[in-house]
Amino acid sequence: MKDGLIFEISKKGRVGYNFPECDVPLVPIEEIFKEIYLRVDEPRLPEVSELDLVRHYTNLSRKNYGVDLGFYPLGSCTMKYNPKVNEEVAGFSGFQQVHPLQPEHSVQGVLHVMHNITEKLCELTGMKWGSLQPFAGAHGEFMGMKLFRAYFEKQGERQRTKILVPDSAHGTNPASAHISGFEVVEIKSNHQGIVSLESLNEHMDEKLAGIMLTNPNTLGLFEKDIREIAFRVHNAGGLLYYDGANLNAIMGRSRPGDMGFDVVHLNLHKTFSTPHGGGGPGSGPVLVNEKLIPFLPVPDIVERQGSYHFDYNRQDSIGRISGFYGNIAVIIKAYAYLLFMGKNGLKSCSERAVLNANYLKARLETRYYLPYNHYCKHEFVLSAKIIKEKFGIRALDIAKRLLDYGVHPPTVYFPLIVQEALMVEPTETESKESLDMFADIMLRIYEEAKNSPDLLKTAPTLTPVRRIDEVLAAKKPVVRWQGDE
Ligand SMILES: *Cc1c(COP(=O)(O)O)cnc(C)c1O
Repeated sequence: MKDGLIFEISKKGRVGYNFPECDVPLVPIEEIFKEIYLRVDEPRLPEVSELDLVRHYTNLSRKNYGVDLGFYPLGSCTMKYNPKVNEEVAGFSGFQQVHPLQPEHSVQGVLHVMHNITEKLCELTGMKWGSLQPFAGAHGEFMGMKLFRAYFEKQGERQRTKILVPDSAHGTNPASAHISGFEVVEIKSNHQGIVSLESLNEHMDEKLAGIMLTNPNTLGLFEKDIREIAFRVHNAGGLLYYDGANLNAIMGRSRPGDMGFDVVHLNLHKTFSTPHGGGGPGSGPVLVNEKLIPFLPVPDIVERQGSYHFDYNRQDSIGRISGFYGNIAVIIKAYAYLLFMGKNGLKSCSERAVLNANYLKARLETRYYLPYNHYCKHEFVLSAKIIKEKFGIRALDIAKRLLDYGVHPPTVYFPLIVQEALMVEPTETESKESLDMFADIMLRIYEEAKNSPDLLKTAPTLTPVRRIDEVLAAKKPVVRWQGDE
């Protein structure tokens, strides 16, 4: 029973532990239940031997797939370079055993890291100061929108309620703007896949609060008109927000601050190591230019005469954005990453990310339709539209077939402006051999789509779980074993 639940190998009375003899009076379990009167029966726990238990969880762990096992070209949200040494650094006892309620003088090391990483991230993005409090990219966006609001309130411009978001944006962008009380206005991409200046022009009025942009955008394309966009938005009284979740596209080469952005968030858990999955752990620092410093969350961390202090003295602050100071372990890993990589390392990281993506793009565009055909940055988006028309095979079928080849599929059906999208981000750390392996598999899958489409329609066939009903799984998830009650 290698694939089952642990309950299915349970045998009444079998144990995997051995307690010493009890030296206090035994109380019948019914008495205990009576006293706490919460439950009436014994909990139904699996009864297994020690070896059964070890084998069960070891087998389960071997079904997991991650960057340590194979190629993982998930576009946009993928983990980039995750050096193992960073885990070790975050595990140093001096870091692990601190508590957020300790007095300042006893946590100088952590404050030093927090202060210094803020400086370094500012240098890397061309911003002036920031906050490490947000726990995720989306949380950073939310904080950024709060800063926009605080700024306009201070200016006496409450009528500025409109946030522009391109149709290629990550879904968190419109969500963050909306939840912060702004009205989200979608702007169209042009035929080149970048923001259309004409579409932008329609909204340059006194209601404009600003624009949220990802650059390069989610098609992997650089918004080459960014200086012009910044000029027009600022000229109309708005602000610019930079979604820097995937900074490996440009870091060390160009800076959002120089492009004209006022607020930036970074995803430390994507670009600056920290393996993440299933929703965490994350960290989404927000960095700002001079205009927005007065509104940053409290406390700030300031350096005075060689020691670090919390500073709550910020009248216009939006307040706290998290309970304490942020996700310290993730911040420490990012700091270690920055120090290990150094200036040149960060630069070569983005160079390789871009080179790898363009290499893979060049190999795959021989068979897969590429709707926006330009040099890309760290990722690119293919479309299975023509394969669907010709052979009846969808992006989803291709993704499922990849599982049979032991490869994690790319992101599918995003961005929304590409039909049957397959969004590929190889990342900076893959060798030419891995890229070729993936390209060979994708080209073979193309041949299969043409010659034996049923192989793809029934895929995956080699995984422990075959094709699942994803809508049902999302709408009616079964997350609790209920046995044969
Ligand atoms: C991942 C991502 C986000 C959201 O980050 P989370 O940490 O998942 O909240 C926002 N924008 C882009 C472009 C992303 O790739």
